[in-house]
Amino acid sequence: MKKIVVFTGAGVSADSGIATFRDSDGLWANYRIEDVCTPEALVHNRPTVIDFYNIRRRELLQKRANPAHTAIASLEQAYEVEVITQNIDDLHERAGSTKITHLHGELSKLRSLSHADRIYAIEGWQEAVKAVEAGQDVDCYARVWKQALDAKDPYGDLLRPHVVFFGESVPNYDPACRIASTADILVVCGTSLAVYPAASLVFAVRKDIPVYLVDPARPDLSRIANSVHFIQKRAAEGMVELCENLLREA
Ligand code: NAD
Repeated sequence: MKKIVVFTGAGVSADSGIATFRDSDGLWANYRIEDVCTPEALVHNRPTVIDFYNIRRRELLQKRANPAHTAIASLEQAYEVEVITQNIDDLHERAGSTKITHLHGELSKLRSLSHADRIYAIEGWQEAVKAVEAGQDVDCYARVWKQALDAKDPYGDLLRPHVVFFGESVPNYDPACRIASTADILVVCGTSLAVYPAASLVFAVRKDIPVYLVDPARPDLSRIANSVHFIQKRAAEGMVELCENLLREA
């Protein structure tokens, strides 16, 4: 069975209504990265950082996987599939993909401030997702999306969002490169290929495999040695078409 590695960025979730990073209407147009997404901000501005990710969690609970996430999950009918995502949302999981590596962390988890390997799934998150998708009021689930400022783990250590901040190392990058190196096909969707080291993942694949790239804008592909099939479409359209073709060819 051929193996497809799918590498996604913020654009795959844009059609679910989650703002991307760099687009002019993107999330970060309203925030300064250094205020909410750096280790220094967490130390000097903890309430703002915790609040920022609480807002993101509340938003995420109200979003749903879109046809692109579902199409990616459907590839598992005929291929071995691994998803590597830069996204901190859980929409690939909700769509049914089974092997997912999050390069930049997960909104639905917290981790110890002093022991990075102590990671805790937020209790009740899955149930809240289902209940909100079924029409329940998201604010009933404040215990799920609202991290308390002084939340501690069972060892008494302060907790922080399980998110890789700018300037922090990306512990899942090397494992992700190993996964990419085993791909027979690479599919890239909704990433500007501008955030490093994540963007370098496209260089970890074998040079003889095809790369498919779905994005309404054209990222810089000049350094990719593989043959690249660029599909200039939104994720919800382009990924559905691509995955249908890949399933037909399997
Ligand atoms: P980016 O914002 O740098 O680039 C987004 C890309 O998505 C662009 O190339 C853009 O043209 C494309 N895009 C916009 N709308 C699209 C659509 N409808 N369909 C397909 N593509 C579309 O995002 P990035 O490369 O992922 O890097 C940004 C960083 O911000 C990442 O580290 C990510 O962790 C983080 N982020 C995550 C989320 C999320 O979890 N959903 C959201 C915003 C930012």
